[in-house]
Amino acid sequence: MGGTLQEILQGRGDKKGKGFWIKRGIPLLFIVSTWLGLLADFPSRNPVLWFPIASATGIIYSILHFAVKRKEFSVEFLFSFALIYAGMIHVQQLPWMKLAYFPLVISATVFYGLNTIIPLSLLIPFLQLRTFILRENTVEEIAFSVFLITTAVISSFVLNRLRKDRAKAVASLNAIKNNAMDIARETSMESLSGDRAMSHYFASMLKTDEEIRELLLAIKQAVFADSANLFMPQGNGFILRCSTAEKGEIIITGKGVIAACLKEKKPFLTGEINEKHIEIGYIKNRKISSIIAVPVLEGSTSIGVLVVDSSRYQAFREPDKNTVQLLAGHLSRILERERIYPRIKRDYNGLRLLNEESAKLVSSLNIDVIVEKLCEGAKKIGSSRVFFFIAKGKEYELIHHSGGSAESEKRFDPKGTFINMAVENRQTIYMSDVKDYPVPIMPFKTEDVHSAIAIPIIYENEILGLFLMLSGKTDFLDSFQRELLVVMCNQASMSIANAKLHAEIEKLAMTDGLTGLFNHRIFQEKMSGELKRLNRFSEPISLILADIDYFKKINDTYGHPVGDIVLKDVSKIIKATIRDIDIPARYGGEEFAAVLPGTDGKGAKNIAERLRKAVMNTSFSADSRPFKVTISIGIATSPHDAKTKEELIEKADQALYHAKHNGRNQSILWSDIK
Ligand code: GH3
Ligand code: MG
Ligand code: MG
Repeated sequence: MGGTLQEILQGRGDKKGKGFWIKRGIPLLFIVSTWLGLLADFPSRNPVLWFPIASATGIIYSILHFAVKRKEFSVEFLFSFALIYAGMIHVQQLPWMKLAYFPLVISATVFYGLNTIIPLSLLIPFLQLRTFILRENTVEEIAFSVFLITTAVISSFVLNRLRKDRAKAVASLNAIKNNAMDIARETSMESLSGDRAMSHYFASMLKTDEEIRELLLAIKQAVFADSANLFMPQGNGFILRCSTAEKGEIIITGKGVIAACLKEKKPFLTGEINEKHIEIGYIKNRKISSIIAVPVLEGSTSIGVLVVDSSRYQAFREPDKNTVQLLAGHLSRILERERIYPRIKRDYNGLRLLNEESAKLVSSLNIDVIVEKLCEGAKKIGSSRVFFFIAKGKEYELIHHSGGSAESEKRFDPKGTFINMAVENRQTIYMSDVKDYPVPIMPFKTEDVHSAIAIPIIYENEILGLFLMLSGKTDFLDSFQRELLVVMCNQASMSIANAKLHAEIEKLAMTDGLTGLFNHRIFQEKMSGELKRLNRFSEPISLILADIDYFKKINDTYGHPVGDIVLKDVSKIIKATIRDIDIPARYGGEEFAAVLPGTDGKGAKNIAERLRKAVMNTSFSADSRPFKVTISIGIATSPHDAKTKEELIEKADQALYHAKHNGRNQSILWSDIK
């Protein structure tokens, strides 16, 4: 393995090239010479030579140490200065100045780790090697060395532990901060990435307890407490919500500092619990000497108290209190989130439901289907009996209901009932308790109703219908549920209006504008369909073709508008004479057709005669001048007279021609012609 290019150039790679030896070897030569010089008493004998060399060593190692960012050569760097200092002691002949090594080593522990301090403290006795060799004060020197090494090791260990604790506290605080940021990020995206973000959000909400515990641990470490505990009010007292202490270690005694803190909403700090006989509100199996109690506030309400304790006397200072207060603020945000979580979840589910159900409403152009979907969706919002009335002029027709009593009668006048208020005011009426209203709720009898909601279905100022919910419970909907229902009904109103419009357009495309009968295209289509259907069951089907006699004359005598009225009136007579299943159509200008499914020639002749007589007996008038109109009719039947549609039309037409040429005002069956 080779080092990086930079390392190799700097002489730190595996390849111990020229650079390496220049960097390691030459300074080492300097330091060893300085040291040997010290042992050989050079500082006193030849200070002009030794001190510059020693200073050069110091400078070389300073450069090496500070130029390389990884703090290499730290031992050599510190040792080179110790050498200069030792030289000075030597020259001055003041052995007690050696005591300065202690603060040197201790202060070095602040900046350097064990891997620097231990070698350094081991090297320092070597500065005194000369004393050992000369056997001057040997015991003293050994004791000095041992104490120095011990001091170095202890202070290193203590500092190391403090460093680790601090790192832990910082790490857990960062984790909490990141977690909070994650949630903030996810929730701000909720509208964009929908369900996934929300489920993530809900999942993180459920981790509240875990999060509080993490935060308490961080607080405990930050202020070096024995435990950090969160108490929350309950009834007249308080409970332990979460603690870093072992389970069962904390026994609540009530009242005390915690109760006061909850009430006064002020932080409290003391280091003399025992001296001042202060009651905290809980006890532990070990003595508590110091505490910080901080209220956890949401707005101006205290929702908890955060307490850190320690068995040490005067363990906490003012800055610790500030730290705990800061973290109490974070706790309050976690708790607030926890409190609003059920509401958010409910709102979210409600909106999701609304979204899903609304989508179903727009998926149909059939009013019955739309109403059914609306009622289904509404029952998911507030489970109770639902009713839907569709507006028919001034009356309302019940087209859908679930459960509850609904009479066989379907059309109602809502006057004098609760539902009429919604119609008159054109707005949602909610009755949380029907006792408060003297009027009947529905235009029919209802039982076990304690609360009700009526929502008018309005589209562009027109009341299309009325949606109702009745419940056996009082106040069965809250404001959010009511809002959802209103939104859903608004959606339904649009869909119903759409469906109505669609039906109207469809009707326009199928019917003749003047008479309202099916137009020629639909007549052809319907007749094909009926022929196919009835041929399969070998059932007869008849076709009647009717033509107004001398219609041209009517137009000429009374004018075209009067001719139109005659066409309309004859159409009405046709509609009134035939059955619901028969298909009347305007075949041409003043020609009409009627398809009579399941009717044979004899039956068709009867109907034709009835029709002819009805027209003949009707009085028309123009400018108060009465006049009469007659029609001629041709009839053909399938399968008796014809097999195909074209054949059937042809035969009926021949029969009509026959009727015209044999005096008009008569009906002829094709099979009777010969
Ligand atoms: P016939 O007894 O032989 O059937 O005589 P007719 O006059 O009824 O027959 P003809 O086919 O000669 O005239 C039909 C007239 O019907 C011609 C046309 O002006 C009139 N007509 C067709 N469509 C309409 C309409 O929509 N309105 C009015 N007012 N007249 C129409
Ligand atoms: Mg004609
Ligand atoms: Mg005619």
